[in-house]
Amino acid sequence: MNILVTGGAGYIGSHTLIELIASGHSVVVVDNLCNSSKIAINRVEKITGTSIPFYETDIRDKEALNIILDKHQINCCIHFAGLKAVGESVSHPHEYYDNNITGTLTLIGALREHGIKNIIFSSSATVYGEPQVIPVTEDCPKGICTNPYGWTKWMIEQMLIDLHTADPTYNVVLLRYFNPIGAHESGLIGENPNGIPNNLMPYITQVAVGKRDKLHIFGNDYDTPDGTGVRDYIHVVDLAKGHVKALNAIQSNCGVEVYNLGTGKGYSVLDIVKAFERVNDVKIPYVIDDRRPGDIATCYSDPSKAWTALGWKAEYGIEEMCRDSWNWQRQNPDGYG
Ligand code: NAD
Ligand code: UDP
Repeated sequence: MNILVTGGAGYIGSHTLIELIASGHSVVVVDNLCNSSKIAINRVEKITGTSIPFYETDIRDKEALNIILDKHQINCCIHFAGLKAVGESVSHPHEYYDNNITGTLTLIGALREHGIKNIIFSSSATVYGEPQVIPVTEDCPKGICTNPYGWTKWMIEQMLIDLHTADPTYNVVLLRYFNPIGAHESGLIGENPNGIPNNLMPYITQVAVGKRDKLHIFGNDYDTPDGTGVRDYIHVVDLAKGHVKALNAIQSNCGVEVYNLGTGKGYSVLDIVKAFERVNDVKIPYVIDDRRPGDIATCYSDPSKAWTALGWKAEYGIEEMCRDSWNWQRQNPDGYG
């Protein structure tokens, strides 16, 4: 298939490009580079030996999208583009709703004008809010989100479901990611956060590389085995492969489908710190701080639906995730610079 990849220069998008190309698909990337670098695309070209059509374009720019869609015969869109920092979404809700919601509306409008009705969307476990059941199944109701970022995911899912209800010839796959970490084994691409990392693993790797003094662990009084928060960390390459499987579903006219992409295993913050230290033989100094507002104690997936329906399951373990995160950071102490 010929796939439009929005946000393809970003962390998950760049890893997915590699898996798509390896599976024989063609890709066209649209990214405004607001949270990424063109260097990521150059590195993917190096890894895959393939030249990638790239447009530095905002998905809110319908005219530009129309020109791109006129030029390339696209069969499906994988939609990664969006802002994703939870805390920033609380302080800048307008920017988040504009970028994520207006952006998606503009994109699906342009796709519709070009007869493109196959869409895979990057959703998130955040749509479950405080999950009513653990492990979280796809049937678990969408919950009350605790921040505007989460609400944008919740609303975009609903918009795409409604498109299919109105026109059943749409095929929509909603992929709810749990906590992606790790990097491509080459160490050429990886997660490259702007400023102080919000997420656990990039913070740990920046401590390891000497950019930060110590990790701040947000709370050790949760109702979990060691008191720190438990999450479902998944290797970004496994996550990327999930998109290739989702494309198979699209090709067999799946209608609307929702899948959790996680490992089904929960690790605490201290489990991750210890695994990182053990695998990489580096010390991660840490302090225990107060809980971070909005955090929940435990969240991990039941990923069995993706296995049954798509034949996808995560293959990498926590050791490989820690090894590859460090391999990327060590080779690229300043990310893409
Ligand atoms: P990322 O920031 O690395 O990638 C997003 C990409 O979208 C960036 O390259 C950015 O420049 C681009 N972008 C943003 N707004 C744009 C716009 N208006 N027009 C064009 N390009 C735009 O983030 P990521 O971690 O790769 O996440 C990809 C998607 O997965 C996002 O939608 C995110 O919300 C979702 N997601 C991520 C996580 C996670 O923990 N990383 C978890 C669940 C869901
Ligand atoms: N966390 C932490 N220190 C950090 C960043 C995160 O202790 O600097 C904890 C956080 O409280 C949560 C876990 O690590 O329990 C995962 O947080 P992350 O932000 O990576 O993912 P999310 O909150 O979206 O699940």
